[in-house]
Amino acid sequence: MRLIFLGPPGAGKGTQAKRLTEKYGIPQLSTGDMLRAAVSAGTEIGKRAKAVMDAGGLVSDDIVNQIVAERIAQADCGKGFILDGYPRTVPQAKVLSETLSANDLKLDAVIELKVDEEALVRRIESRVAETVAAGGTVRSDDNPEAFRKRLAEYREKTAPLSEYYQGQGQLVVLDGMADVDAVTRSIETVLENSAA
Ligand code: ADP
Repeated sequence: MRLIFLGPPGAGKGTQAKRLTEKYGIPQLSTGDMLRAAVSAGTEIGKRAKAVMDAGGLVSDDIVNQIVAERIAQADCGKGFILDGYPRTVPQAKVLSETLSANDLKLDAVIELKVDEEALVRRIESRVAETVAAGGTVRSDDNPEAFRKRLAEYREKTAPLSEYYQGQGQLVVLDGMADVDAVTRSIETVLENSAA
């Protein structure tokens, strides 16, 4: 099962992807998590990505294309994977499609979670509050200014992917405003139908 989750920051992609990894036994590939790991490890990629991530901008296509291509070649992706946060631009989607077809692989579904923007701001505020309450470290891009920039980047560079995947006949749009369990159920229904 190879899946892509699309949707703005705070739409619930990560939450849903985690649930599916348990059910299907395939990994969640979050480029945000991979980049944050590179930043903490102080790798060359991490050093190049940190400032742009903190400001809410997008890391260059070359960097993310490379980390994803390397990651999906690993053994644990043999049964499939869930991409969360990638592709984020039409050029990234084109590179992904080439990488997949070079390996004789195809996507099973592209699922977009639709949410209204006010809800996103509230979700990010509560994510920050919960992290603080639990004594955790708040993401350096979870502040109002970087969040606004992340939303603007989404509208400008990522939203066009809906049309791109629609054109390929692969897009399914689901209501991300429903409660978490209801969203999971609707995703499972889509996947059952795509497997049929
Ligand atoms: P969000 O909660 O905003 O969806 P992510 O954890 O997916 O955040 O990503 C955090 C940051 O990592 C992004 O704002 C961006 O700087 C960088 N990033 C993650 N994935 C990509 C990608 N596919 N292309 C470019 N930059 C990316």
